Amino acid sequence: MKNLNVISEDEKKSFDPLLQNIIAYRKSGLSLNHIIGCSLDCAYCVRHFFDNFEMKEPQMLCSDEEAVNQLVNHQFFIPNVTPLQLFNRATDPFLTDVKKHTHEVLRRLDGMGLTNQVLVITRAKVTKEDMELLEQLKNLHVSLLVTYSGITDVRIEPIAKNGITVHSIETIARYKTRTKLILYWRPIVVGWNDDPASFERVFWMARYADAIVYTGYYHRPENHAYLKSMGIPVPYGDFARRKFLPNELENRIFEAYKNSGLTVPLFRKTSCGVAYAHRVPDYNGHWGVNELCDICPKEQRDLCDKGYQAPTRDEFQKLLDVYNYDTPFLIEDGHVWTEGLGEERRYHLQHTLGYQIWDIEKPHFKNQHGRSPFGHEQTKENEAWYEDIKRQFTNDIKKEDD
Ligand code: SF4
Repeated sequence: MKNLNVISEDEKKSFDPLLQNIIAYRKSGLSLNHIIGCSLDCAYCVRHFFDNFEMKEPQMLCSDEEAVNQLVNHQFFIPNVTPLQLFNRATDPFLTDVKKHTHEVLRRLDGMGLTNQVLVITRAKVTKEDMELLEQLKNLHVSLLVTYSGITDVRIEPIAKNGITVHSIETIARYKTRTKLILYWRPIVVGWNDDPASFERVFWMARYADAIVYTGYYHRPENHAYLKSMGIPVPYGDFARRKFLPNELENRIFEAYKNSGLTVPLFRKTSCGVAYAHRVPDYNGHWGVNELCDICPKEQRDLCDKGYQAPTRDEFQKLLDVYNYDTPFLIEDGHVWTEGLGEERRYHLQHTLGYQIWDIEKPHFKNQHGRSPFGHEQTKENEAWYEDIKRQFTNDIKKEDD
């Protein structure tokens, strides 16, 4: 195991600004990334988006102490509320040289008595010793989300060839008590891992998990260029901001899951799998997008229902004032429409309230479950609904201005 040294300010400046900023708010949580660089070489990796794919050796942007300090003093951080994510943007938290920092950050946060949810996503080697350290934590609610796609093409996932991830899942399952294990079934891509044998491999490993979360893949020009250069086919057309998971593929996933006889529940959304594993209501308020809940166990639906509370207009305005956010808004059953807040501030509000906060320019259409439109039929009903919402939203703003 090598000691990682903190790089100089000058070196740091050569990185994409998004990587220089070690804290970013994502839908599943406030994400800490003071180590970047990864040797695993998954062909579709999001590091292509930050021009970081060639950095195979992890580098530290600041010390763990400084990183934790920045995190707990961050404007978006709420003790015991804000879900956190660790090293999920540009490295793997269980790479040989990274894992000691993963444990150190967790130890420091736990030592402050914080009970926040912490999501740690990995596909690397998790050992018995790692599990012993995780199990010593007393306060944080830690979930290990182990990415396992069933892909066997080593051009796409080189790590698939030596069974490391399979071994990690078995090890975690053997030694976990308070740590939760989520089988993170992703990316599921037509032609890569949508055949019965791939599904079976995933279901076999899912027996060990507390929950399964499935999802598609980000199809953007940067990772597409790399996939193409490797001769890996991608069956999708236009690029999009959201993940690709065509409706037809999703139906086949359900069918295969039903026939598998698995009793570990399957979830569409990451936070739902985490919430179920820890037996708490979903912190993203997906209960308000109730079509997502039809595959969720009854006891979890009851929990989410009980923990769910729509804000009043007055309460929402007060929260905006506290955070100094300025947006018109429209509260509907299950979500609040806002305008121009940007993702981070919307997630800040969403996690504070446990209620969905949407942007008027980025609608969530019925039955698309927040995916890219590819492979989902856009209905006239959806279009009419969105037109009507925009009209109401604009009228509301006018009324406020009068
Ligand atoms: S009830 Fe719905 S919101 Fe709650 S965890 Fe299940 S799927 Fe998610």
